[in-house]
Amino acid sequence: MEAKPRPTSGTPTAADRGRDRISRIREGVMAAILEHRLLPGTKLGEDEIGEIYGVSRTLVRTALLKLAHEGIVSIEKNRGAFVSRPSTDDAREVFEARRLIEPTIVDHAIDAMSPARLDRLHRHIDGEREAERRGDARALIRLSGEFHRLVAEMSGHSVYLGFLQELIARSSLIILLYRRHDTPPCGTGHHAEIVMAIRDLDKARARALMIGHLVDIEAELFLKDVVPDDRRLADVLEA
Ligand SMILES: [Zn+2]
Repeated sequence: MEAKPRPTSGTPTAADRGRDRISRIREGVMAAILEHRLLPGTKLGEDEIGEIYGVSRTLVRTALLKLAHEGIVSIEKNRGAFVSRPSTDDAREVFEARRLIEPTIVDHAIDAMSPARLDRLHRHIDGEREAERRGDARALIRLSGEFHRLVAEMSGHSVYLGFLQELIARSSLIILLYRRHDTPPCGTGHHAEIVMAIRDLDKARARALMIGHLVDIEAELFLKDVVPDDRRLADVLEA
């Protein structure tokens, strides 16, 4: 016999719809940052975002506050919200935190590995190689971050996953500001090697490869100025 639906399921309440809209804005801004469509220092006008997503300023403000709490947006008194410009100290802290948690994440992912999950990882690597072959830099940047998120999802550790999603978004801003070359931050080769270590259930190798990979990404960074561009939000955000 099928379970009766709980009385709370069914028609979404106004609060549910509000939460959905807030997460749509948050995810839209995150995706634009991960694909380097939104640059550090870009003004995030409440009215403009409200228009793009067809929501009230109150909801936009809530979404921006959430992003500010995650270090992705900075809110300046009387000036409004901007995409954060992480400092070089922030950059060091973010990569130090990643070096600390990602080896443990990969450990947990190996514990939870299954043929279906391994297949998903292989398909992800194929996607990265395909984007590389097409010369699709934007897709490659997005997929690079997604690889790390995917491994965290497979770890089944929701606290680490939450931390890492924030760290990946902040890394994306850091890489935009401080990378030395225009090449994508994560080489496909590194990710493929990590997947092979996961396949072999070799925790020591997977951990070492992950740490080495993060050290390499950080080593590619240096301080440079990024001139804020003047694109309209409507050109970079997709509702
Ligand atoms: Zn990577």
